Amino acid sequence: MSGKVLVLDASAFIMGYDPLSISEKQVTTPLISNELRSENMIWLRFKMACESGKLEMLSPSPHALKIVEELAKKTGDYGRLSLVDREVLAVAEELRQKGFSPVIVSDDYSIQNVADQLKLEYTSLSTLGIRQRFQWIPYCPACHRRYPSTSSMEQCSVCGTPLKRRPRRKALTRKNSK
Ligand SMILES: [Zn+2]
Repeated sequence: MSGKVLVLDASAFIMGYDPLSISEKQVTTPLISNELRSENMIWLRFKMACESGKLEMLSPSPHALKIVEELAKKTGDYGRLSLVDREVLAVAEELRQKGFSPVIVSDDYSIQNVADQLKLEYTSLSTLGIRQRFQWIPYCPACHRRYPSTSSMEQCSVCGTPLKRRPRRKALTRKNSK
């Protein structure tokens, strides 16, 4: 069996990607649910995609994960990748070894960079016609400190970890506007 398979990371769901609107085969890692559970709409879309059978869960082999992690250490991206990010890359690597043509769907620069090095194909959300719908809040994945959305900081001022971004929650927006 071969063919194109889209491998989705958390940023794809956060940006509004809807597996139900895509005809290709789509997979992700079960761990992704940890990163999506806090956003109701995103979680709902994710659950519906799973239940409809449009989205399949694959855990990578330890071997594929090791290939990804060793490369990410070489490129300096390791600290910017969560375990979910690494698993997404490893799932794609493993699919390729099995003869599929995986395409990673991600707006995460570190994922794209490691994919590049592994010679894995990837596509960003804007390429798929999906535009950002949220206000993005930079946060530190290590110490969980949050920064203002207007901040252009790239590293945590407390621990120096490169910042990630997540969409602002609606409840917080309401609280702040009072
Ligand atoms: Zn920090």
